[in-house]
Amino acid sequence: MLFRQGFLFKLKPNGRQARLMSRFAGCCRFVYNKGLSWAKEQYENKTGKHPSYKNLSALLPDWKKDPEMLWLSECYSQCLQQSMKDLSRAYRNFFSGRTAFPVFHRKYGANDAFRYPQGFKIDETGKQIYLPGIGFVKYRRSRYIEGKAKNITVIRKADGWYVSIQTEYEKEVPVHQGDEVGIDMGVAWFCTLSDGIQIAPCNTLKKHLKKLAQLQRSLSRKEKFSSNWRKAQREVAKLHQRIGNKRQDFINKVALDLSKKHAVIYREDLRIKNMTASAAGTVEEPGHNVGQKSGLNRAILDQAWGKFFQRLEWKCEQRGGQVIKVAPQYTSRICPICGYESKENRRSQASFKCMACGYRENADVVGARNIKVRGQRMSACGELGEVGRAQVNRRMETVHGAGQQQEPIEVISGVSH
Ligand SMILES: [Zn+2]
Repeated sequence: MLFRQGFLFKLKPNGRQARLMSRFAGCCRFVYNKGLSWAKEQYENKTGKHPSYKNLSALLPDWKKDPEMLWLSECYSQCLQQSMKDLSRAYRNFFSGRTAFPVFHRKYGANDAFRYPQGFKIDETGKQIYLPGIGFVKYRRSRYIEGKAKNITVIRKADGWYVSIQTEYEKEVPVHQGDEVGIDMGVAWFCTLSDGIQIAPCNTLKKHLKKLAQLQRSLSRKEKFSSNWRKAQREVAKLHQRIGNKRQDFINKVALDLSKKHAVIYREDLRIKNMTASAAGTVEEPGHNVGQKSGLNRAILDQAWGKFFQRLEWKCEQRGGQVIKVAPQYTSRICPICGYESKENRRSQASFKCMACGYRENADVVGARNIKVRGQRMSACGELGEVGRAQVNRRMETVHGAGQQQEPIEVISGVSH
């Protein structure tokens, strides 16, 4: 099976190289934004010119000749073309309903980057990468890459420049010997398995939220665009990055553990966006700044679950396992023993007691068991339609190679049946 994988490394550019990277990223941002304006104009004037890659890249030669944009030719031209490719893809995704309308890229935004489709060289022994137009740049080799590099992207993050290498490789998929399990996602517990194991959420986040609020308050007190304001802004960005890294580590660790142990994992087919709307009521310690806090928590939950599912599916595929989505309705209200379904069965967030047969159990475990049973029934009856089977497209995954400390994960088992 063909796998695609991403590897992320921190770059160690010298002063000249860092300046060039800034300039390249700036040029790419500029043509992306200018291309977007152009596309909007075409739409408003009904010229019928579609923002296709062909149309967009055809604009570049003229722009480069424009006396006011001569500096564009300082940038490696393939990077500019890649920006146009990104823009046309953003439009395609929008037209197909997958994403929102393309937005202008901002400096220091998440899209401050440029990409090479070819011409780069990776020298792993010398721990350096050749970037056309910039030269050999040292990088922190936190691991060796796997497969053939297809393209590389240079990205600006809060604490410096990174390179993301996308690779492709063939790998034989083994037969997984593990068992089947149902998994129920939650707030008080990150997830609960049908065999009673509960995994605590990544608590470092909560600690960081306090600090983040502090930094943001201090930022709001500073005079805008002053040097102190900029400094405070950088601090906020760095903390965001640190939180993201910690979350990624946590997700990787949990997904890895689960994919090793279980051959088939049943999970709810959650519409995460609608789901987290209810998080406000269940987030711990409500009362103080509820609106703000739950908003933050929601955003974090949002990301964590989506990324976790993506990671889990990818890890399982690599080990020959699979993740199967099942319909989420009433999984926490049905009695796994007698099948009686009632809102009354779930008496509180944590406890379940069947009103018909008196069966008692931890409510999350009941949810996970119901998910497993439902998944197995669906598999057996061949009910796995479009919703059923988790998409098995060999999607892109990024391994965080930047090498942060991994947080230990609290795994608590001991809910008896
Ligand atoms: Zn019952």
